[in-house]
Amino acid sequence: MLHDAIIVGGSFAGLAAATYIARGRRTAAIIDTGLPRNRFAAHSHGFLTHDGNAPAEILATARAQVAAYPTVQFIDGSANSATKTGDGFAVTLGTGEVVEARKLVLAYGISDILPEIPGLKERWGNSVIHCPYCHGYEFSDRQLGVLNMQLRSSHQAQLIAEWGPTTFFLNGETIDDATRTMLEKRGVAIEPTPVKSLHGDGKHLSGVELIDGRTVGIEALYIGAPTRHNSSIAIDLGCDTEESPAGPVIKVDGMKMTTVPGVYAAGDITRAMHNVTFAVADGVMAGVAIHASLVY
Ligand SMILES: Cc1cc2nc3c(=O)[nH]c(=O)nc-3n(C[C@H](O)[C@H](O)[C@H](O)COP(=O)(O)OP(=O)(O)OC[C@H]3O[C@@H](n4cnc5c(N)ncnc54)[C@H](O)[C@@H]3O)c2cc1C
Repeated sequence: MLHDAIIVGGSFAGLAAATYIARGRRTAAIIDTGLPRNRFAAHSHGFLTHDGNAPAEILATARAQVAAYPTVQFIDGSANSATKTGDGFAVTLGTGEVVEARKLVLAYGISDILPEIPGLKERWGNSVIHCPYCHGYEFSDRQLGVLNMQLRSSHQAQLIAEWGPTTFFLNGETIDDATRTMLEKRGVAIEPTPVKSLHGDGKHLSGVELIDGRTVGIEALYIGAPTRHNSSIAIDLGCDTEESPAGPVIKVDGMKMTTVPGVYAAGDITRAMHNVTFAVADGVMAGVAIHASLVY
């Protein structure tokens, strides 16, 4: 069967694209491994009408609503590769089966590469967090920390001070005088000693232990971890990328089409600023653009 569209990644961006393709009465196959980026967080914030809901709940509702459209098919599993064919695209699944469609939406998301600090990974998405708009409000006026991980960490430390008293953990690195002055102006405490481990009950954080034996009392630690794309399908198809403050992103036009005609991309893989609302908006745009491209 030749679908109108194959969507690789059935989370926020992918399900939004599917909704608009299905509402245009076209067929779509959604291939999904079921590992959305925010699955570590107990609550998702900032997405209208779902503020504070569990990410898995939001996605289960969205998936059930998309599944109600008879022209949508879900394939649970991995899309391993994609190639151009005469009619469109062929996607090979992890099972070896091949699915074909006239258009392709890439919405396979990104993953965070967390630092190897004991006690950090198990708190990711709960008290070790990346985005103040997603989780910062809940830690208002508590003792906060920012771990130095990249050039932008010092900017993050200046911003986080909006939410509460902030310590910037240099983790053994140095900063220039201009950066130090800006941080001091914002009232940010600077801790130069490398971090040894994180402590607290369960997923809560109570302190950051340093290698000299001291512990700094902190209830939330922000990190700007590097990320990687979950698949190389876009690159293998020849889609161009461009640099962004968050690393390379798939280059798309205003309609979310990549530099390869017929291949669209949406969500975190296409932008520097990541959240559910943007991913859904991207998916909507890709879905509408695909529907229009099938008509003309
Ligand atoms: C810890 C944490 C907490 C967050 N909290 C919030 C929040 O409170 N509010 C908010 O707005 N944003 C939050 N975000 C950001 C949000 O998670 C992302 O912006 C959003 O998930 C991006 O949606 P997406 O559809 O682009 O990608 P994802 O949601 O990551 O979905 C990608 C999908 O593609 C699938 N996939 C990957 N590779 C393949 C493949 N080869 N074949 C088939 N399927 C594949 C995955 O399993 C996944 O289901 C948070 C992020 C993190 C890391």
